[in-house]
Amino acid sequence: MSKQIVYDALIIGSGASGGMAAKHLTEQGYNVLVLEAGPPVNPTRDFTMHKFPYEDMYRGFGPPGWKQRDQWMQDTASHYSRHFYVKDTEHPYTTEPGKPFLWVRARIVGGKTLHWGRLSWRFSDLDFKCKTHDGFGDDWPISYAEIEPYYDKAETFIGVSGNRDGLSHLPDGKFMPPMALTCGEQIVRTGAKKLGRHVISPRLAMLTGKPLPHMKGRATCHYCGHCGEGCDVGAMFNSVVSTLPLAAATGRMTLRPNSVVREIIVDENTGKAKGVAFVDRVTFEEQEVFGKVVFVAASTLESTRILLNSKSRQHPKGLGNSSGTLGHYLVDHFGGISAGGFVGVLKNRTPVNEDGKASGYVVPRFRNIDKASKQAGFIRGYHFEGGAATPMFPGMARNINGFGSPFKKEVRKYYTAPVGLTVRAEMLPRFENYVEIDPGAVVDAWGIPVLKVHIQHSDNEREMAKDAGETELEILKAAGVEVTYSGGRMTAPGRIIHEVGTARMGDDPKTSVLNKYNQMHDVKNVFVTDGAAFVSVANQNPTLTILALTMRACDYLVEEQKRGNI
Ligand SMILES: Cc1cc2nc3c(=O)[nH]c(=O)nc-3n(C[C@H](O)[C@H](O)[C@H](O)COP(=O)(O)OP(=O)(O)OC[C@H]3O[C@@H](n4cnc5c(N)ncnc54)[C@H](O)[C@@H]3O)c2cc1C
Ligand code: SF4
Repeated sequence: MSKQIVYDALIIGSGASGGMAAKHLTEQGYNVLVLEAGPPVNPTRDFTMHKFPYEDMYRGFGPPGWKQRDQWMQDTASHYSRHFYVKDTEHPYTTEPGKPFLWVRARIVGGKTLHWGRLSWRFSDLDFKCKTHDGFGDDWPISYAEIEPYYDKAETFIGVSGNRDGLSHLPDGKFMPPMALTCGEQIVRTGAKKLGRHVISPRLAMLTGKPLPHMKGRATCHYCGHCGEGCDVGAMFNSVVSTLPLAAATGRMTLRPNSVVREIIVDENTGKAKGVAFVDRVTFEEQEVFGKVVFVAASTLESTRILLNSKSRQHPKGLGNSSGTLGHYLVDHFGGISAGGFVGVLKNRTPVNEDGKASGYVVPRFRNIDKASKQAGFIRGYHFEGGAATPMFPGMARNINGFGSPFKKEVRKYYTAPVGLTVRAEMLPRFENYVEIDPGAVVDAWGIPVLKVHIQHSDNEREMAKDAGETELEILKAAGVEVTYSGGRMTAPGRIIHEVGTARMGDDPKTSVLNKYNQMHDVKNVFVTDGAAFVSVANQNPTLTILALTMRACDYLVEEQKRGNI
C-alpha cells in the first residue's frame, strides 16, 4: 500500500498570492502542493500580445455572440484574452434582484496575474488607520511601519516602475525607472497643478530597467502595449514567469493544475485542518490530499466560498466562522465616472509614436487626506486614472460623424489629441454587504455549491461619485481640454475587479476571521492570504498589498512552527 503523502503546506490557487506563498515557503525548505483549479498555461500559445487583427478571421472581435453566450460577466475579456477567464456557463453565482455584482474571474495557472493592469501602490496609515482618521468602520490590526519591509521586498521582487513622488499618503517604494508622461499628459499635469492636484506616472509591475539577477527568464519591457493579452517576454509580473519558476527550481513544489478545491477537511479530534478535498476539473474525480498547513489563496471570494463550504461538527458555520463575520464586509472600488475630449494645442500635429507605453497618468487621492481637504459630504477618497496618447488605431474616429474626405480630415485632426480620465474610488466596508452559500442550492459544473452575493453602494459612494464628476471636469478644463464627454454611471460592485474583504483580519476573534498575520483565529494551521483578509479597500489597487501580506504570513508561519506554536 502506498504511503499517504503529508505536505508541509497545501496552497490553494496559483495567482498573485498562491504563487508568492509557493515561492516563499519552498525557499524556506517547505514541501508544498499547489492546487490550481484551472489548466496549465502555455505562454507561446496563450499569450497573444503580438497577434494582429488581420491574422484573425474575425479581425480580433471573435465569432459573433461569444461573449453573450459564454462570458457575459467577464467584462474585460477580449477575444484575445478570453481563455484566461472563466466561462459564466460553468461558474454561476446568484445575486439579489436589483443588486448586481459583476464577478470577473480567472481560472488558469497564474490566475488574474496573467492579464492584470499591473498598477502597484502601497497603502499608507491613512488607509490602515482609517477609523482613527474618520471614525468609520475599523482600523487594520497592522500599521504601515509593520508592512513596509514587505512592500520593499515585494516591489524589488516583482519589479515596479515608478517615480518617487514624495506624497505621504501614497508612500514611495523601490522603483525601476518611471515611464515618462506623454505631451498630452504633461499638459494635463500643468492644468491640474493650477488646482493644487498632482499628476504622476503610474507605478506599474513591469520591467522598465535591466532585470535583476533573481528575474531569470524575464526581459525588459519593449512597450508593445498589449499586456492584457499576456506578456510572452516576462516583462510584466505574473506568477508563471516570476514566483512559480523559482518555487519549481527548489524541487520542493508540486503544482497540480485542474484541481478544483471543494473544501478544507478537518481532523475530527482537534478541529485543525488536515487536508483538502478537490474535484478534478477534467475527469470529475473526487480526491483528497493532506498537509500540515493550508494556505487559502484562491482569490477573495473563491477563498471565502471554500471556507463557507468547509462545514464540520467543529465548524458548523464554515471554517473560521465562530465570529459570524466570514463572508461579510465585501467591498470593491467603483469606477465609471469619466471625462475626456481633446487637447486643443495637440490637434493636427504631426503624429508621434506614443503607442505602447502601457501606462498613462494618475491623479492621486486629494480628498480627506488632511484638515484642509476634509469633505462635508463624504469620507475616504478616490483617484483618477487617465491617458493622453496617439494610439496605433484611431478609436476616437467612432465618435466622429460624416464620411469621405471631410470625415478623414476630421479624424486626422483629432487623432493626435485625445485625452481622458476615469475614477477609482473607495467603497465603505459594511456588514450588510456579504456573501453566503446560495440558499437555493445552486452548484457549479463540478457540483460545488456557489455563492449568493448581497451588495450595494451607500450614500457615501454616491456623494463621492458626484464630487469626482465635478473635479475631473475641473482638471480637464484647467488643462485647456475641449471636453466632449463627462459623467457616466458608477460601475456595479465587482466590475473594477478589486473585490476584497469577507475574511477580514483583526485583533478581536469575536469580530474578525484572521489575526494580523493572516492566520485564522479559530484554526491555527489555516492562513488566508488573498484580498479576503482586507479590512477596507482604500482607493489604491490591492495586489501589491496582497503580495506583501502573503510574504509576511509565510515568515510568521516559519517562526511559529520553530516555536512549536503550530
Ligand atoms: C483585467 C484586470 C486588471 C487588473 N488590474 C489590476 C491592477 O492594475 N492592479 C491591481 O492591484 N490589481 C489589478 N487586478 C486585480 C488583480 O489581478 C488581483 O487583485 C490579483 O490577481 C489577486 O490575486 P489572488 O492571488 O487573490 O487571485 P488570482 O490572481 O485570481 O489567483 C487565484 C487563483 O486561484 C485559483 N482558484 C480559484 N478557485 C479555486 C479553487 N476552488 N480551487 C483551486 N484553485 C482555485 C484561480 O484559478 C486562480 O489561478 C486586475 C484584474 C484584472 C482581471
Ligand atoms: S508592454 Fe511590456 S509588459 Fe506589456 S506586454 Fe508588451 S513587453 Fe510585456
